[in-house]
Amino acid sequence: MKSLWNDKEAADCKESDGELGLRAYSSRLLGADESLVLAGGGNTSVKLSEPNVLGDDVELLYVKGSGWDLSEIEPPGFAGVRMDHCLRLLELPELTDAVMVNELKTHCTLASAPTPSVETLLHACLPFTYVDHTHADAVVTLTNLADGEARVRDVYADRVLYVPYVMPGYDLAKYCADLWAREGRDDLEGIVLLKHGMFSFGQDARESYERMISLVNQAEDYLRAQGVWELSLPSEEPPSHLDAPSLAALRQSLSTVAGFPMLLRANRSPRALSFARNKQWTEAHKRGTATPDHVIRVKRSPLVGRGMTAYAESYGESFSRNAAKVAGGERLSMLDPAPRLVLDPELGLLSAGRRPSDCAVAEAIALHTFDIVERTEALGGYEPVGELDLFRMEYWELEQAKLNKLETPPVFAGEVALVTGSASGIGRACVNSLRSRGCAVVGLDLDSAEPAIDYLPIVGDLVDSEFVEDSIAKTVEAFGGLDVLVLNAGLFPPTQRLEELDDETWSKTMALNLDANQRLLRLCHPFLKLSPNGGRVLVVGSKNVPAPGPGAAAYSASKAAMTQVARVAALEWAADGIRVNVLHPNSVFDTNLWTSEILEKRAQAYGMTVEEYTRRNLLKTEVSSHDVAEAACELCGPRFSKTTGAQVPIDGGEERVV
Ligand SMILES: [Zn+2]
Repeated sequence: MKSLWNDKEAADCKESDGELGLRAYSSRLLGADESLVLAGGGNTSVKLSEPNVLGDDVELLYVKGSGWDLSEIEPPGFAGVRMDHCLRLLELPELTDAVMVNELKTHCTLASAPTPSVETLLHACLPFTYVDHTHADAVVTLTNLADGEARVRDVYADRVLYVPYVMPGYDLAKYCADLWAREGRDDLEGIVLLKHGMFSFGQDARESYERMISLVNQAEDYLRAQGVWELSLPSEEPPSHLDAPSLAALRQSLSTVAGFPMLLRANRSPRALSFARNKQWTEAHKRGTATPDHVIRVKRSPLVGRGMTAYAESYGESFSRNAAKVAGGERLSMLDPAPRLVLDPELGLLSAGRRPSDCAVAEAIALHTFDIVERTEALGGYEPVGELDLFRMEYWELEQAKLNKLETPPVFAGEVALVTGSASGIGRACVNSLRSRGCAVVGLDLDSAEPAIDYLPIVGDLVDSEFVEDSIAKTVEAFGGLDVLVLNAGLFPPTQRLEELDDETWSKTMALNLDANQRLLRLCHPFLKLSPNGGRVLVVGSKNVPAPGPGAAAYSASKAAMTQVARVAALEWAADGIRVNVLHPNSVFDTNLWTSEILEKRAQAYGMTVEEYTRRNLLKTEVSSHDVAEAACELCGPRFSKTTGAQVPIDGGEERVV
């Protein structure tokens, strides 16, 4: 590990935001390395003296606010807490964490400051301007060994102080404050928290940061000298074919035990598969998380294999067993008993969550834990914090308080949609409307689009059946299954009267508007059937179905045939809990088909202005792609959970349809 310190960047940050800018700068350096901190873990601080509005100088501790990630923290991410109050709190014989957090929040200089880190008081008690805290892989590797303390003492001697595992929060801060009072020295560089992580400190930003790097490097060197630093290189290639039905079935049982739909993201890299296939490692991983705060993200143990119900039962038993051992345990409410990580020899590493970002965080934690487990197992055995301590962390009053306040999740949280023709027009609007409701979306189109953590665009031609099969497998691999299918892609050939209509136009139109959709329905059915809330299909039809227009025989016939297919699907698939509905939009002009020139020409042909032309309906209103997408989402959402086989016009009212 190398120091990333850059004098020029540091000076720029200091110039624009002062000492706090510098504090944010070196915090980001720590956050940039996943082997130091992951997913909002770790925290940093700086002690400053600032005048208040009365002109008095006040000693402040600027400490990372919760909800901020070190990798992207900026000066507003730090809460300025009054130092004198922090130090007096540490003199109390005891304090609950909820009261401590309230005290910290009410002793900030800014009413709008983020909630100060729960480790604020630990930062306060250390007499150094800069304090940095990480959960470095190399340090937790050493300290998660049975003889971890002896080993770190070997490594660091009197460079640092040593603290046994103590629950983070007031108790840990108090322990460290007392220890510092007895053993603190100016020349100390850090504190090792066994089975938790490392603190470093210094009088300036660079000193504190580089001490962290140097301390972590020393642990890495030790592991290298022990011959365990190089990880085993998996030689086996992952199987080329993903068993998508098994993965989707597992995601269905995951959602059943959770009580709500969840995403399940598969990682079948050689590393993930080789770990999942090693019984010694998977058994060791079940003992707990490498550092306590990971438990909030991944629970104490992964599910090894596919015994979902047994996992949930054993989670429930462990909850009752541990709740009985802690004060106030009878008031705790059990979290959902679904695992957040699954290790399966065939499917690889699976990470679960209600949001794609939750899955990504769980996966990153798992991959780092793999390294820690492999190395500790080679050094005598992985021994993380015990069950009861991790229970205390998972059911920490602060976490429980957050949970009780949790807002209602978005309507499609934990669900997955596949949208065809997703790069423009109604398809793109559907992608956006679904994502804004918490849905993970896969989009298929001939044109590319910008991917995001909740959006996987795949480029290809829907008439190619291999592409479609492959895309469905990719959908399941990325998110675990399929809940909503939006059949939107369609071809609108140039106007041709029947006597001019050539075979090629006819068959091309049918191939996309009808055949490709029929194939998609067949291939998606096994997955829609496994949808936790019941699968949904939304077919984008056309006003041309109930009211065809001259010159559009191929289009109208293809859409009418597709509507008939949808009606049959509603009949056949009701028993599988799958709802199938059709929207008939008309005159949606904000799509690629309609340029302003074409619109003007058309309006002229009707002797109308463009505005009159686009509002040629009973309500005299314009129908946008967004309007259609919102209606599509509603039809697929809970408000229409009792509706299937319906055809809904979205056209501003059309005389020939009404
Ligand atoms: Zn920590």
